[in-house]
Amino acid sequence: MKQAASKTTSPVPDGPWWRALLEARWRDRLQQVTELSLEFHDAAAAAPGAGAVRPGPALQRLMRRAASARRALADTDEALARLATGRFGRCENCAAPIAARTLRAEPEARYCVRCGQPALTHRDLSVVAS
Ligand SMILES: [Zn+2]
Repeated sequence: MKQAASKTTSPVPDGPWWRALLEARWRDRLQQVTELSLEFHDAAAAAPGAGAVRPGPALQRLMRRAASARRALADTDEALARLATGRFGRCENCAAPIAARTLRAEPEARYCVRCGQPALTHRDLSVVAS
């Protein structure tokens, strides 16, 4: 069966497809957050001097991974919210459609190629204090 060429101007003509994709990613990321959190709590409990003010480097690494997994989950969450409100696939800065290629590579993308990806901050490189 041939695929009909889409004439729609909507940046995301295939909403249900994106929803299924994003929901699958959301579940994966939720599982990652859960696993990392459990790993962190196990490691924290097993660490010598548990309860010490300063976690060791291995624990800090785990904390950073858990924090970035939580952010990734939140990104997917927000992409699903954009899909529900019809803003998915549009640049949050200039409202231009985000290239399908970009969305396929990163469905959580918020910005078109021209506006870049300011959402990708690297603040997680510094230690997450709690
Ligand atoms: Zn833009």
